[in-house]
Amino acid sequence: MGCPVKALVFTAPGQVELLDVPEPDPAPGEALVEVRAAGICGSELHGARRPGFRQPPLIMGHEFAGTGAGGEAVVVNPILSCGRCAECRRGLRHVCREREIIGVHRAGGFAERVAVPASALRPLPPGLPWEAAALIEPAANAVHAWNQAGRALGADGAKGARVAVIGCGAIGLLCAATALSGGAGRVEVTDLSPARLAAAQRLGAEVAGAGLSGEYDVVIDAVGSAATRAASVAHQRPGGVAVWLGLAEEEAGFDANALIRSEKRVLGSFAYRDEEFAQATARIGDWDLTWAAGYPLAAAAGIFTDLMNGGLHPLKALLLP
Ligand SMILES: [Zn+2]
Ligand SMILES: [Zn+2]
Repeated sequence: MGCPVKALVFTAPGQVELLDVPEPDPAPGEALVEVRAAGICGSELHGARRPGFRQPPLIMGHEFAGTGAGGEAVVVNPILSCGRCAECRRGLRHVCREREIIGVHRAGGFAERVAVPASALRPLPPGLPWEAAALIEPAANAVHAWNQAGRALGADGAKGARVAVIGCGAIGLLCAATALSGGAGRVEVTDLSPARLAAAQRLGAEVAGAGLSGEYDVVIDAVGSAATRAASVAHQRPGGVAVWLGLAEEEAGFDANALIRSEKRVLGSFAYRDEEFAQATARIGDWDLTWAAGYPLAAAAGIFTDLMNGGLHPLKALLLP
């Protein structure tokens, strides 16, 4: 039927290619989205090297925005859930056991057009740039991490909190921005890259030097290595909270006895609740996002491959089909 569309396809471990694929054919209940911006996520760079949930051939892309069939501006909430289980009914559909993610379990936004369940579409605020719209999904992860800390510390617990963020990739930067606009008293960040630290400073965060020192009310680990997980516990005040959302390694390696003796806490944070996606949509336009850079789809394979092989620039790549 329609003409083929260009898509960045994950074709084999460590390999992505720009290919012509058939025009997506929306099933009943689905909508066709003309993709305008799609962010490349660290989880995709990792997943392409070592296929796990993502199996080739696959069009990845779970952070994207575009126009719907009527030309309306939309952003896609990529979390698909069963809608029937106890978690879904409690508003926790992001941890539904039957959870699937657009761009992981089915074709995503690294294409000119993609068919998605119509229930995944969310309206965009008027005038929001496409580049910002593509950062709503990672920002929703940050909103959730901050809310996880707030729920643990009590109603006003996160207000005025001294916060540390380990790792200033896109998620870490958005965690710093979320904490600052959510009432944190002070946000300190660590990273090995001067460019990333500079981006964090432009968002209002302070640089914690070579590593964390002292204690914090909230430590957000946006890296997820055994070493950063250990640091998140070591630098947490008694009764504080660490929020883990980095997934670099499976190991933890923290001092479990310190967790007991000082009643420290560690919370996992995955994705976001529906209302947190809406909160991220409302806030994203307020933040300095100059650390993200857009590229035409034609350049996608080169950019993705470079980042996958350890290239550090740009800090966050957005594909603009
Ligand atoms: Zn992502
Ligand atoms: Zn469910």
